[in-house]
Amino acid sequence: MSLNALLLLVQAATQSPRLAALKQEAVLDVASRAQFTQQMVDQIFSFGELGFQETETSRYLIDLLRKNGFTVREGIAGIPTAWVATWGSGKPVISLGSDIDDIPQASQKPGVACHAAMIEGAPGHGEGHNSGQAVNITAALAIKKIMEREHLPGTLQLWPGVAEELVGTKAYYVRDGLFSGVDIVLFTHVDDNLATSWGDVAGNGLVSVLFSFQGRSAHAAGAPWRGRSALDAVELMDIGWNFRREHLRLQQRSHYVIPNGGDQPNVVPPTASVWYYLRELDYPHIQEMYALADTMARAAAMMTSTTLLPERILGSAWPGHFNRVVAEDMYENIKQVGLPQWSDADQRLAKALQRELGVPDSGLALKLDTLRPALKPNERTGGGSDDIGDVSWNVPTVTLRFPSNIPGLPGHNWANAISMATPIAHKGATAGAKVMAMTMLDFLMRPELVTGAWDYFRNVQTKDVKYQPLIRPQDRPAIELNRDVMARFRPQMRRFYYDPTKYRTYLEQLGITYPTERAADGSCAGAATP
Ligand SMILES: [Zn+2]
Repeated sequence: MSLNALLLLVQAATQSPRLAALKQEAVLDVASRAQFTQQMVDQIFSFGELGFQETETSRYLIDLLRKNGFTVREGIAGIPTAWVATWGSGKPVISLGSDIDDIPQASQKPGVACHAAMIEGAPGHGEGHNSGQAVNITAALAIKKIMEREHLPGTLQLWPGVAEELVGTKAYYVRDGLFSGVDIVLFTHVDDNLATSWGDVAGNGLVSVLFSFQGRSAHAAGAPWRGRSALDAVELMDIGWNFRREHLRLQQRSHYVIPNGGDQPNVVPPTASVWYYLRELDYPHIQEMYALADTMARAAAMMTSTTLLPERILGSAWPGHFNRVVAEDMYENIKQVGLPQWSDADQRLAKALQRELGVPDSGLALKLDTLRPALKPNERTGGGSDDIGDVSWNVPTVTLRFPSNIPGLPGHNWANAISMATPIAHKGATAGAKVMAMTMLDFLMRPELVTGAWDYFRNVQTKDVKYQPLIRPQDRPAIELNRDVMARFRPQMRRFYYDPTKYRTYLEQLGITYPTERAADGSCAGAATP
């Protein structure tokens, strides 16, 4: 054995207790910040902002990070609500991300186990994206404190997933070079267990495309023969797609909405548009689907003597692939942290909601998920998408899922907002922050882990598959989306912004008894707007 190798061995042996002690310290530090974590979770819940319109959320987070010594660059990648915060210097560069946008029409009172909107029709955190930044920031501050005292080299980078529900930004972050020089990305996402995985995700990638048609208006009764209906083109395209979907691969998912179907029935619609999410397992299949949709759009224009306008790509996502080395290390930390201690009140809320939705009332998770190994190709049956996929094909990445929500919910729904400003969300976020902090320490203090992660990334993950963006060079982030809806609801929502200087929790501010179950007379007790 060479002297060098011997030294390394001695170093590893002496470093290990030091690392264990620092991890222990970080876990205690995160626990001591529980109220700070809770305030972030509740504050962002109360802002309830849709994708690309996260102005209050981003303002709040930017101020908070600057106050804590981070340098923040705003408006990155041409997206007004996007930013990147950095602290520290040198290698490794550890990047932490989590989404911040919410869901249309998902307004819901927290802690109430039946449908009770805060504001009828308003957006709300019916995905739980109000909790992830709290996980990341709590962990980052605990680690920053240790790095300062121990003089550990390394750079921390934090950023928000803006407009994730529109898969609208992360491919642009990649294109803008946000991840050049980054060593690993630790992404966090709300779930109902504390978990991570590696390999290809079960879900799909996608391209989000707006097809717009130009026709000619005319009096719909007086001279219909002089009109050419753009709405007809939209409908014929949709009919064509719906017939054809029977003959598509089972792994695909595709769906659409009609954001513009004309103005009023007596005017032949001169303009109309249909917005598709086209989802498949990999880049070639996504592009194949897009080409098919494009053919149908052109055919629909021919059938109706209308014109297909230039197609707009409003969003995109590569199917994710997560790093084995990072996931395996993170899972060791998950096992040490374990699930939160749920109270009777937490379990009562969860079970009441599960009964409300007609799913088994198993309550909150009591057993940790296992570390899911890579899926085999035949186990990939398709599903949702997340543009963290684009990041995962550029830097070794994993997603930490943390238990701030209730099992058995439909997703993208008011029900998914119920736990998100309650002790369930708060405890789940603290558990997540502990795992994040421990994993950050591993990668700061064990350079061989960074090397191993890149070895997997270069020699396994990207050996045969190379990243090519689904966005085209001419595409720009669709930052105008949701502007009108948010402008309509924001004045009413402002009355319910959380004020942590006056109230310990958001539940306290709203005067909600925790948990509130459906009343004996069957009414949803919390239904009236406060
Ligand atoms: Zn999400």
